[in-house]
This record gives sequence, C-alpha cells and structure tokens, in this order.
Amino acid sequence: MARYIFITGGVVSSLGKGLASAALGAALQARGYKVRLRKLDPYLNVDPGTMSPYQHGECYVTDDGAETDLDLGHYERFTGRAANKQDNITTGRIYQEIIAKERRGDYLGGTVQVIPHVTDAIKNFILDGNEDFDFVLCEIGGTVGDIEGLPFFEAIRQLGNELPRGQAVYIHLTLLPYIASAGEMKTKPTQHSVKELRSIGIQPDILMVRCDRQIPENERRKLSQFCNVRPEAVIPAYDAKSIYEVPLAYHKEGLDTQVLDAFGITGAPSADLSRWQQLVETLSNPEGEVTIAIVGKYTVLKDAYKSLIEALVHGGIANKVKVNLEWIESEVFEEKDPASLLENVNGILVPGGFGERGAEGKIAAAQYARENKIPYFGICFGMQMAVLEAARNLAGMRSANSSEFSGEGEPVVGLMTEWSKDGEKETRHSESDLGGTMRLGAYEAKLKAGSKIADIYGSETIFERHRHRYEVNIAYKDKLEAVGLQFAGTSPDGVLPETVEIADHPWYVGVQYHPELKSRPLEPHPLFSSFIAAAMDNSRLV
Ligand code: GLN
Repeated sequence: MARYIFITGGVVSSLGKGLASAALGAALQARGYKVRLRKLDPYLNVDPGTMSPYQHGECYVTDDGAETDLDLGHYERFTGRAANKQDNITTGRIYQEIIAKERRGDYLGGTVQVIPHVTDAIKNFILDGNEDFDFVLCEIGGTVGDIEGLPFFEAIRQLGNELPRGQAVYIHLTLLPYIASAGEMKTKPTQHSVKELRSIGIQPDILMVRCDRQIPENERRKLSQFCNVRPEAVIPAYDAKSIYEVPLAYHKEGLDTQVLDAFGITGAPSADLSRWQQLVETLSNPEGEVTIAIVGKYTVLKDAYKSLIEALVHGGIANKVKVNLEWIESEVFEEKDPASLLENVNGILVPGGFGERGAEGKIAAAQYARENKIPYFGICFGMQMAVLEAARNLAGMRSANSSEFSGEGEPVVGLMTEWSKDGEKETRHSESDLGGTMRLGAYEAKLKAGSKIADIYGSETIFERHRHRYEVNIAYKDKLEAVGLQFAGTSPDGVLPETVEIADHPWYVGVQYHPELKSRPLEPHPLFSSFIAAAMDNSRLV
C-alpha cells in the first residue's frame, strides 16, 4: 500500500515547496522506490489554463492534455515520471464536480457542505490510483492560514487518522529570516506557522527551514523544542546555486532519511544519487558559454517561461556549456533595429505566446535570424511568426496574417476548427469557451525522412505536447516550400503542419508544439541539445 507524504508551507509563499517535493521524490527514487507527486491547489480556477502567466507563471501541459500548475514541471524534471490529469486538482475542479452532482440530484436531498462533501472529494482524489506507488507526495499550494486552503488541510488531517497507522507523514516548509540589524536569525515566524498548523490538528513530523545562511545548533534546537519536532527532523534547506543541486543538498541534510524514519521504515536501500552528482559536476564546470536571446512578451516574469529556461539549461548540459539568457521584450523591435540587440547573441528563440501585442517584433526577430544565419528556434507562436515572416518577405504575400490578430489579410495562420484526437473529431468555433478548449496534450507527428528535424530526433515519428488554438494553414504549403520554408513535420493525416525548417540556413526550426515540456536534466530534449550545439557553432562571434 502506498504511503503518503503531505507537504505544506508556512510564513510566506514562494519558498520552493514544489522544488522541495520534487527533490524528495528524486531522493526516494534514488533508493529504488516508486514515487508519484501531486499538487492540490486551493484557488477557485478550474485549472491554471485561464490564468495569466504574469500571475501564475507557466501553465504546464501534460501528455493527456491537462493544463496544470508549473510545479508539475518540476516533478517531471526531477523524477522523469510523466504527470497526468489526476496529478493536479484545484478547489474549482472539486466544486465543479460537486455542483454537477448536486444538480443531478445525487445527494438525495441532503445538504451539501464543505465538511464532509468537499473534504471527502479531496480525500478521494488523494487516495485514487496509487496502487503502483510506494510513496505519494501531495503538495498543498499556498500557505497555512489561507482561508481557501482550509478544506485541504482538514482533508489531510482526517487522512492522518483514516489511513493505517504510520502511513502518513507531514512535512512543513518555512522560512528562517535573518535580521541584519539584530545580527540574528528569527525562529518566531516558524513557531507561529507551526502553531497555526497544530491549531487545525496537524503536527508536522518534519520541518524544513529555508535559510540563506548556516543555521546555528541552538536555533535548530529552539525550533525543535517550540515546534515539537525531533531535532534531527529539523532539516535546513539552504539556497543552492542550481536547482539540480537540491536533491543532493537535502539528502545530505537527512531529508529522505528522516522521512523513512518517520514512517518507521528500517533497512531501506541507500540512495544512489550518482547521476545527480554527475549532472551537478557538468553544470559547475562548463567548458564554454553561449548567449541565447529570448524574444518574448512576459519577459519580466521568468516563471512564465519556467520549462523553457530549464530546457535551455538542459541543452547546455548536453553540450557542457553555460547558457546565458538575454531577455528581450519583442515590442522594442517595432521601433528599434533588431541588430542593435541581436548582433551579439549566438541564437534566437521566440517562445510560445498569445495575442497581437509584440507580434511584429517577433516577426522582425525571425527575419533577422533568417537573413543573418543565426540559429533560430521558434516554439508554437514562434513558429507561427516565422511562417508569417517567410510568407511576407520570401513569398511576397505582404498581407500574410494570423486570424488571432484580425480577420484582415491572407490567413496564413488560422483558427483551428476541426482536428482529430484518438480517432475522434474535435470541433471548435470562434465563440467556444476559452478554458480547456485548445489543442492540448501529446499528439503524434510524422517527420519527413532526410529532413533536419528527423535527423535531430533520430526518428520519423514523434509525440509532443501541444497548447494552441491557431495553426499554420496547410493550404500555403506549396507556396512556402517553393521559397525554401520546408514543412518537414505534419500530423499523421498530413493536414496540420507541425514543424518548419530552412535547409539553406545553419539552424532554423519552428515547431507547433512545446518540446520544452518534455526536456529533463538527465535526458535533455534533442531539439534543445541541437539548438545549443548550433549556437556554439555560430562562429560570427569568434
Ligand atoms: N497564440 C497561438 C495559438 O493559440 C500560439 C499559442 C502558443 O504559443 N502556445 O495558436
């Protein structure tokens, strides 16, 4: 039977609960255990798909097409296990199900309440589908004390009694601030946080404390006494140079050992973290560096591009180089000559995006990369903009446009109204709901033999994850191929363009899907490895 590890946070948000959970998952895996990580989000949105990346960071898409919290990306990157729809739940989704049941009359006249109905739904979600796992790690979003989080804390408290003894362990992650004027570390916020947790009936077994400097022994003892946690179960969680050091660092501080101890597991296999060690070794000793410009829209909030940033790091790991990122708001190219900001970079990447603002700047970046033979990687929106660029400047279709922007001009990129998924036809129209209605999740694509992209993948069949509403219009294929933009990858029925490339260019690739979602530090995605390798070869700078 699976054992449950509940991870909660206190004091402030953004302490890295997702990363801590992912790192613990990796450490348990390194001992040979099978782990599953799940995220419980207390907000009312049904999923993060409709939330602005400014507010909530990237929306992470799973193979089965769920739009989920970005922490699921951490989970996948650290454990290698592909997450699914059932690994992320929100209050909104729980209420949606409960209200649908109520309308159907399933409650037979009963009053529907937070306890037991909402808490039962949360518990059912937590307990479902765990037969194949040794440990199920459930991270609760937000911090203890948030009003909206209460049903989740109540549900995991109840599970502590309902599961057989010793099957549930509670980890609480807090912050130990250092007050410079006093020259001291302060344990009070953590004490209060644990007090809050205990007031709703949860006694943490393990306390993880984020701190930017060494925690002295007496502070650790104090935390142990005031929070009623064993001294050895107070785990310092220091800042790390790279997130990929975290599994090693937390393991060194005894995290996984303490978790096993809290479950009463003795004689567990020791952790083989050698692959992580090697990885950190490579990361800390780069043999060179490259600079990649990311020409996008949400460049002030790096969390909006979480998986992309990590995939570029992975591409660097594969080539043993450090990847520097140059963030450029695409709108600047509507006034400025792209050369002013792009002439010194080794590669240009236009990532996924939505809406017209900044689109012309992205098209200008694609043109600059094409004409100056700088490696160009266009992802989703970045591919669509590369196609518009080629249509306008190579094929002479001056009015080439996307129907995402206006109904004017040649609809080279248009709204997708029909496509097939698992043999079923999916239909949309311009009035469809915005939530959950894009082309989402993993789809098969066929790559033309002999194309650059087939060569990069070493395969002619791929499965990649999608999240878009518009699509390059296949009707323009012949016209664009005639001027050098090859449609090397398409959906198996040949109707939806999946990748484009220019043969007469060192590296110019656009993909309609999001390869960054499947890249992992221990298994860098071939497109990112190849893009970084091409950036290294970009000898203009030498
Ligand atoms: N806005 C574009 C579309 O919906 C691209 C989306 C994306 O880049 N993820 O098709």
